[in-house]
Amino acid sequence: MYDTSSDSKILLDTVQKFMADEIYPHEDRVDKLGYVPDEIGKQIEEKSKEVGLFAANLPEKYGGGGLDYSSMMIVEREYGKTSHALHSWIARPTEILLACNEKQMEEYLYPCVKGDKRELFALTEPDAGSDIMSMKSNAKKEGDDWILNGSKHFISGPCMPDFAIVFAATGEDETPRGKRKRITAFLVDVGIPGFDIQEGTKCISYRGYKNYQLSFNDVRLSADKILGTEGNGLSLSGKWLGMGRIWVGATCCGKAERILDLALDWAAQRKQFGKPIGTFQATGFKLADMKMNLRAADLLVKDAVDRALTGQMMDEDAAIVKIFCSEMLNKVADDTVQIFGGMGLMEEMPIERLWRDSRLERIWDGTSEIQRHIVTRSMLRPLGA
Ligand SMILES: Cc1cc2nc3c(=O)[nH]c(=O)nc-3n(C[C@H](O)[C@H](O)[C@H](O)COP(=O)(O)OP(=O)(O)OC[C@H]3O[C@@H](n4cnc5c(N)ncnc54)[C@H](O)[C@@H]3O)c2cc1C
Repeated sequence: MYDTSSDSKILLDTVQKFMADEIYPHEDRVDKLGYVPDEIGKQIEEKSKEVGLFAANLPEKYGGGGLDYSSMMIVEREYGKTSHALHSWIARPTEILLACNEKQMEEYLYPCVKGDKRELFALTEPDAGSDIMSMKSNAKKEGDDWILNGSKHFISGPCMPDFAIVFAATGEDETPRGKRKRITAFLVDVGIPGFDIQEGTKCISYRGYKNYQLSFNDVRLSADKILGTEGNGLSLSGKWLGMGRIWVGATCCGKAERILDLALDWAAQRKQFGKPIGTFQATGFKLADMKMNLRAADLLVKDAVDRALTGQMMDEDAAIVKIFCSEMLNKVADDTVQIFGGMGLMEEMPIERLWRDSRLERIWDGTSEIQRHIVTRSMLRPLGA
């Protein structure tokens, strides 16, 4: 880490102490169990409220911790060292909820800030992953109400939510590039007629972090369940996805730092041919590359955060961070398994879990291929291609 201002140091110390006391002791057990026992989740939630980390990302005027992007970068980087299954109990409610009107704030935003409610962000569908515009979920107007049909999958969170922010097509618009689905975001309460939510299949990354399958069968929603305005769902989600990708970058840097420490330790301790294996160039150069690429990744995250702070962050900036940091992490994790040799694959060593966890980072929040597509498009479009 390069930011050494005293405020940052205090924040970093707070998060590190919290992780040491409340998170790390549960990592192995949760990974082996495949779920987070309720009492552990609740304890993380409560203790994080005590130290001011719960909902730290949201402005103070809404009851949040009021941390700016630079501070959240420090926090997310530390959280990245562990599993989503655990740190996601320290809620960072999605900033899309700031688009709530006053009544919706009472019903959704404030309860999330207090920890009385949990939300899900539901964009992906079984037949619409990377190609989100092919979504089949749709809502049709009936009188003043909307009737929602469709399904979502891979929608993740720490525990059964109270409501989902669901993206659905509410019509089509003519654009210079042809017809385009008009996407609207709805606030959909768990438990209302026609809305079914089930736990999805188990994921080998971040064991214990849940994902849900949602299905909507003629779900009747009043007009005041629209978040923002009809048709601005994509701009709402786009705004949030951009910062989300930067936080993926920060978490990847944190995890890579933790893995590099393990690699270094092993390379210094493990002896073959009478010498520490780190002194063999093949191992030592891996370590040097890890350090170099981690530093580059950290600087890219900081650059994107600086751009976001001045309102200049573009989609391509977030995409570059997402690609570089997640691929850096996967290389660091894979090379570290190699440095550990056979022990790298044994369940008793934490590297096996960190390697598995790392793999997801190149996939969720938009795959590496889709991020490269975003970067390519941003270069070619101005040239008319
Ligand atoms: C554990 C987990 C949690 C998740 N949480 C959420 C959540 O909370 N909310 C949510 O909405 N979504 C969530 N997702 C969904 C995630 O964002 C998607 O998995 C991701 O966007 C990729 O979609 P897909 O899995 O359908 O892959 P696909 O879109 O089917 O892609 C398969 C492969 O094809 C490649 N590909 C596709 N199109 C192109 C193209 N044009 N050019 C080049 N290559 C291409 C992809 O890069 C990938 O390699 C989660 C996923 C997982 C696994």
